[in-house]
Amino acid sequence: MKILIIGGGIGGLATAGFLEKKGFEVHLVERAPEFKHIGFSMTLFPNGRRLLRELGIDDGVGKAGYELPWFELADAKGHMVF
Ligand SMILES: Cc1cc2nc3c(=O)[nH]c(=O)nc-3n(C[C@H](O)[C@H](O)[C@H](O)COP(=O)(O)OP(=O)(O)OC[C@H]3O[C@@H](n4cnc5c(N)ncnc54)[C@H](O)[C@@H]3O)c2cc1C
Repeated sequence: MKILIIGGGIGGLATAGFLEKKGFEVHLVERAPEFKHIGFSMTLFPNGRRLLRELGIDDGVGKAGYELPWFELADAKGHMVF
């Protein structure tokens, strides 16, 4: 079966990776002309890290980043959300 995925964000790329691992022929189209670094940091939560491990692409993550000792989220008025 051939599968077409529209969009090469994390959702499209992860879906393509898992479908390819299952043996499907995947074609992915992305409207952006190139993937480029735009300077953001990225917080990788445990569920995302687990998926990277399942895709077999987690090796460099521990070396490239560091573990957050804690994480808090506030709304615009400074009230803690969690
Ligand atoms: C500033 C910022 C910081 C963030 N930081 C984090 C973070 O640290 N950790 C975290 O977990 N999440 C973070 N997020 C949220 C995270 O980026 C999104 O949840 C995630 O990117 C969503 O992925 P997605 O694949 O669903 O969509 P997208 O990343 O939006 O990808 C969709 C892709 O589809 C392409 N596309 C759309 N329409 C078409 C079309 N018609 N044809 C072809 N291609 C198309 C777009 O160009 C795009 O590349 C952040 C978001 C922002 C804005």
